[in-house]
Amino acid sequence: MHEMGIAEGILSSAITAAEDAGATKINEVDITVGVLTEVMEDALHFAWEAIRTGTMAEAAVLNVTMLDARSQCADCGHEWGHDRYSGAQCPSCSGYLVRLLTGRELKIDSIDID
Ligand SMILES: [Zn+2]
Repeated sequence: MHEMGIAEGILSSAITAAEDAGATKINEVDITVGVLTEVMEDALHFAWEAIRTGTMAEAAVLNVTMLDARSQCADCGHEWGHDRYSGAQCPSCSGYLVRLLTGRELKIDSIDID
């Protein structure tokens, strides 16, 4: 389950940022996760609740925004949204020269601290 490692990364980044800001408690952490990371939202919440115990994020809510993948065709410029299983072929001109625009994100958007 790679969500455990991802949750640990988010937690340590959030704690570092909170400590730098002089906080003693983290209330909420907002993150954006692209669907192509293959992170399961439920598993991420499960991992988060397991690892936050005993830290300043013990009661912190993890708000996850899942982001669809978007690609753009290099031939015709068409842009479209898709899931992790499609997107290799342009639905407009059937070309295979496509560039991924979004879908691999894994970032902390904001942290609410006290
Ligand atoms: Zn195209």
